[in-house]
Amino acid sequence: MRCAGVREQAVGYARVVRDTDLYAQILGVRDPWTVSEVHLDMPAKRVEVTLEHRAGAALHCPECGATCPGYDAKPRRWRHLDTCQFETMLIADVPRSNCPEHGPLQVTVPWAEAGSRFTALFEALVIDWLHEASLSGVARQVRITWDEADGIQTRAVRRGLARRERRLPTRIGVDETSFQKRHEYVTVVIDQVAGDVVHVADDRKRASLETYLAGHSVEERAAVETVAMDMHQPYIQAVKATIPLAALKICFDKFQWRATWARRWTECGAREPRVARGGRRPPAAKPSTCGSRTRRT
Ligand SMILES: [Zn+2]
Repeated sequence: MRCAGVREQAVGYARVVRDTDLYAQILGVRDPWTVSEVHLDMPAKRVEVTLEHRAGAALHCPECGATCPGYDAKPRRWRHLDTCQFETMLIADVPRSNCPEHGPLQVTVPWAEAGSRFTALFEALVIDWLHEASLSGVARQVRITWDEADGIQTRAVRRGLARRERRLPTRIGVDETSFQKRHEYVTVVIDQVAGDVVHVADDRKRASLETYLAGHSVEERAAVETVAMDMHQPYIQAVKATIPLAALKICFDKFQWRATWARRWTECGAREPRVARGGRRPPAAKPSTCGSRTRRT
């Protein structure tokens, strides 16, 4: 033990609460996990809590839940809520199960989501703060990077979407947005009636939208009334491939449509410098607009 235990004096008797027991209780650690060590690093103002997985405890594949033999263990660290303003880290060697079907996979731990370097309680704190301040502000206050705060927010959105009923809206909005620093795009699908985000997919390719739309029944897709979007060809192709009578239901962003139409008209004029005197250029086919512009971010 490298840290003095926390001692509690009670009336009538003396009771010692060991630091490992204290953290086991406040972290809610249960079998097969135990807190084996608490290390206080005063110069770094950090508390490191080491957890151990009981030897011989059953391992379950995180994909299918099957009980599997062990494969190996990998060291992991998670940032947890501060202890008296000391940064607190959880440390554990996390076993990998060796599933016959899914191969070696790290088992889930009860205090954090798979792949996250923060505990669930720390992520909950960040999400609470994000209701009050910007990503940059929250990141600065809790001493994490902008990308880490963004990752926590993205995981929260995905959890929220996973809890939602999978239902295809009848009035769909499609938009693309990019992460400010990475210039990586995501496709966002919106229920324009409820005003909810119903799907987020990586990239802005045809498959980004088509995979989502194709995942619903033919009846649901036929019931779609409008799909509002900008004039991004991969999105148009995705809607035409999945929504019956798509050509009658696609509504373009009217501001972008005007700009595109004006540019093509000018190009057409440049190629045909003179129109018969008194004649008029034939009007281009005008796509329908919904009268509402999808929000740009
Ligand atoms: Zn499995």
